[in-house]
Amino acid sequence: MEINKLIGQFLEANVYIVSKDNECLIVDGGAFLYDTIKAVGKNKVVGILLTHGHYDHSCHVAEYAKFFGCKVYASAEAVKTLTDAKALYSEHGETIEDLSRFEYIDEDKTIKIGSFTIECFHCPGHSPCCECYLVDGENLFSGDVLFDKSIGRTDLIGSNKEDMYKSLCKLENIKFSHCYSGHGEKSDYAMQMKNITVFKRFLTR
Ligand SMILES: [Zn+2]
Repeated sequence: MEINKLIGQFLEANVYIVSKDNECLIVDGGAFLYDTIKAVGKNKVVGILLTHGHYDHSCHVAEYAKFFGCKVYASAEAVKTLTDAKALYSEHGETIEDLSRFEYIDEDKTIKIGSFTIECFHCPGHSPCCECYLVDGENLFSGDVLFDKSIGRTDLIGSNKEDMYKSLCKLENIKFSHCYSGHGEKSDYAMQMKNITVFKRFLTR
């Protein structure tokens, strides 16, 4: 599996191109379509995983789905964020209009997209629609839940510290090799276990 990173249009949100055997998944949709097409290259895009609705991650996701002719997988909670400019934190009151290619994940489950196996974990706290994805039992795409030596903000619309605590408890029980976050650098399993311990304590202070 090869993982390439693009930096998005807003707040330096990461977009990942996860490729294997000439197929790829795109994680999040914050980068311009043109740059994403270049990064995808000759790979066939089999699906897009949306970590959560916030505009820095979702602004171009509907364009990607239309262009590549694939589905966007997102938490069932994402609709409320994507269609509400305030909860979306869009630049000028925009909302994500075209949800026709969205497929919603309503529980923690394993899905197959092309040759990829994706374990989906609903992890609210930063936003009610945060979903973390473990791809091929190896790499965790954590969106704005886990960062390298930090966690996502819990002071936004729809944020909830208790939910974040429960989400950290859930993620603590998942085995992965590396964690690819919605912003910043990747981290490894050992670092994230320390990170989760520190922030569970912080959230209950
Ligand atoms: Zn966010």
